[in-house]
Amino acid sequence: MSKKKRIVIALGGNALGNTLPEQMKAVKITAKAIVDLIEEGCEVVVAHGNGPQVGMVNNAMIALTHEDADQPNTPLSVCVAMSQAYIGYDLQNALREEMLNRGIENIPVATMITQVRVDETDPAFSAPSKPIGKFVSAKQAKTMEEKFNYIMKEDSGRGYRRVVASPKPVEIIEIDTIRAMVESGDLVIACGGGGIPVIRQGNHLKGASAVIDKDFASCLLAKELDADFLIILTAVEQVALNFGKPDEKWLSDVSLDEAEKYIKEGHFAPGSMLPKVQAAVDFAGSKKGRTALITLLEKSRDAIQGKTGTMFHL
Ligand code: ADP
Ligand code: MG
Repeated sequence: MSKKKRIVIALGGNALGNTLPEQMKAVKITAKAIVDLIEEGCEVVVAHGNGPQVGMVNNAMIALTHEDADQPNTPLSVCVAMSQAYIGYDLQNALREEMLNRGIENIPVATMITQVRVDETDPAFSAPSKPIGKFVSAKQAKTMEEKFNYIMKEDSGRGYRRVVASPKPVEIIEIDTIRAMVESGDLVIACGGGGIPVIRQGNHLKGASAVIDKDFASCLLAKELDADFLIILTAVEQVALNFGKPDEKWLSDVSLDEAEKYIKEGHFAPGSMLPKVQAAVDFAGSKKGRTALITLLEKSRDAIQGKTGTMFHL
């Protein structure tokens, strides 16, 4: 029998929803798509985003400081850890149930709380750009800057939001454990929300006030696990040139040279499609035989069979 194809799946926002009840529902659909791949004989590792969830946890923890004056503010790294556990809990239960419903009883599911090291000198730290949490007034923004040392920025006329740095992932701290679990046949959920960003200080890992892009973290995870596929699941079935314009053109198959050209021409929106295409190019270019795919959750099975999605390869 040929070796099982190893797939790292990066789940986007629509795979998880925005609220607790939405997530409960969404993970059921997500689990079906993932177990479809397992039934096809693939070995799957799951990574995911956490935008709405980490915003929610962060807001809840700020509310706690208003309720109880003894409570200091919660660092963003801790909020990411909480979001990993909350999302992992829902996902691992949904995956377990879906597998049992289909008679798959030999694949244990577990979430790995994952720390991802970032470089303290990453230029992203001096130019925080990623908005997180809710919109507040100018007055509230000023208070938050003074009270919590936050950097607050006006966001396209809608009010002020906190912005944080989005440094590149350098090292997955728990990679050996993740690899061991994957090798022993477990279905692992790891690098949630791009991982808990940490900076190395000797033996100490210090949480960083940052959010790592989950597309880049998933790419690093896929490379570290020597995966065959990186599948980035998002809200569009394919990547487009001239997206949203009359001459929009959907892409099925992209060589890395073409992808680089399209990136330079500005076809992919920064903060949404651009990091996905960059991650896809990085993974597909890192070793022969590695393929990256960007598609819709519901289309993942069709996409690995080459029927849809946008495929990136050497
Ligand atoms: P996720 O939560 O999956 O990371 P994002 O909203 O960050 O999702 O990114 C996916 C979105 O990127 C798509 O829903 C689409 O609106 C947008 N997008 C921007 N540029 C493109 C493009 N060139 N082709 C397709 N989608 C694009
Ligand atoms: Mg995104």
